[in-house]
Amino acid sequence: MAEWTQHAQFDGPIVMVGFGSIGKGVLPLIERHLGFNKARMTVIAPDDKDRALLDERGIAFRHMGLTVDNYVEELRPLLTAGGHQGFLVNLSVDVSSVALVQLCRDLGALYIDTVVEPWPGFYTDTRLTVSQRSNYALRETMMDAKRAHPGGSTAVTTCGANPGMVSWFVKQALLDIAEATGTPAGEPRTREDWGGLARELGIKGIHIAERDTQRAKIPKPRGVFVNTWSVEGFVSEGLQPAELGWGTHEGDLPPEGRRHDFGPDCAIYLMRPGAGTRVRSWTPTAGPQHAFLVTHNESISIADYFTVSENGKPVYRPTCHYAYHPADDAVLSLHEMAGAQWVRQPAWHILGEGDILDGIDELGVLLYGHAKNAYWYGSQLSIEDTRALAPYQNATGLQVTSAVLAGMVWAIENPERGIVEADEMDFRRCLEVQMPYLGPVVGVYTDWTPLQDRGGLFPEELDRTDPWRFSNVLVR
Ligand code: NAD
Repeated sequence: MAEWTQHAQFDGPIVMVGFGSIGKGVLPLIERHLGFNKARMTVIAPDDKDRALLDERGIAFRHMGLTVDNYVEELRPLLTAGGHQGFLVNLSVDVSSVALVQLCRDLGALYIDTVVEPWPGFYTDTRLTVSQRSNYALRETMMDAKRAHPGGSTAVTTCGANPGMVSWFVKQALLDIAEATGTPAGEPRTREDWGGLARELGIKGIHIAERDTQRAKIPKPRGVFVNTWSVEGFVSEGLQPAELGWGTHEGDLPPEGRRHDFGPDCAIYLMRPGAGTRVRSWTPTAGPQHAFLVTHNESISIADYFTVSENGKPVYRPTCHYAYHPADDAVLSLHEMAGAQWVRQPAWHILGEGDILDGIDELGVLLYGHAKNAYWYGSQLSIEDTRALAPYQNATGLQVTSAVLAGMVWAIENPERGIVEADEMDFRRCLEVQMPYLGPVVGVYTDWTPLQDRGGLFPEELDRTDPWRFSNVLVR
């Protein structure tokens, strides 16, 4: 058996909420890299299809869903049993992240999740305005909790692949571009240092640029939503408005663009769902591609983190958004669902590692507008590599689960940091933990811009003053 590096020791109870594609993929990584007592671990989920994995390890399983009425009474005894600090690992849907974070703070327990998730009903509540249903609004609920109670036990919010790992990639990519352009960068430490470096390098914006080429052995049947990770999660975020961090190089808002009337005003939203909004972007395998502008926490947190202000006014901010080309079956699934006026198919399926014929999840960050035009830095993890690296997951899953592992290690090493986003963590330490699970991690420069080969067959309104304006990126 291979010898695994033990990154940290945790003696208290570990409670995992949710045991879907991410939960079951994290389990073997925790087993390998954390010293902990399995008899002190509990998993809670309303579906029990994978509970054999827990039974064979002697890990307790509670077959139930958490609700607004039961979560305190269920979690409190589990997280405080035995006298040591507890750790709540939230990998569920339909359970409020903010509620769990507040409980953990009261109990002095550590916490991690991969998304700011609301209680059920939020995403489709038409009594809420579009702004109130946005990710910006969800993130603000977490930021409100942080402002109200700074410090305390560490709660790592939104630490998966994206949001999560990609924030660490942005920092590495900035250092790479600095080196390639002969710009002295030193070792930036603070938010101001990082914002200053991005500004000095002339970074106009960042796409979280992803191409998932994982191909199922059996083509998607009609009436089934097929994806490489949570269908519920993807459908929920896909039906939120398209959102993006709004950079200082941008011109007018797009006609369907709106500003929020609360919070830091670092992002805008469009009056249309992300699952029905496409943008032009680029990854090494795809080259130029159309991708979905699905809203994500990192679009807002990265834009916010790298904002440089003078006299209280933002003078520099990168545009930031997701440009996601999911697996082909997921694209077909979205198309089918859009045709049904966004009513989700009656059945769904998450492709397991055994369902996939071949392909990679190419997930990285595309930093554009600088002296070398554009630079993509990211992971090109294949399904074959994934099968060799860790069980119970596909390539998409392993990019997420290894980030959860890195976040857990960091939290154990930094137990009193209060609520933190991935942007605020030690990116070197986190990538050190995660790197063995990411397959090839490469940096590639490209001369592509969103104006390339445009305006040929049909006249188009293009902004030639700046190829990187969002008006050139958005597919109309
Ligand atoms: P999944 O749909 O496979 O599993 C969700 C799990 O949550 C299931 O075990 C389900 O039974 C459980 N659950 C549902 N309602 C619950 C309740 N009331 N109480 C307790 N558990 C409940 O999803 P997944 O692919 O494992 O994703 C898990 C979460 O991680 C989702 O919120 C998803 O959006 C997020 N995610 C984040 C990233 C990232 O990179 N940041 C990537 C993938 C997934």
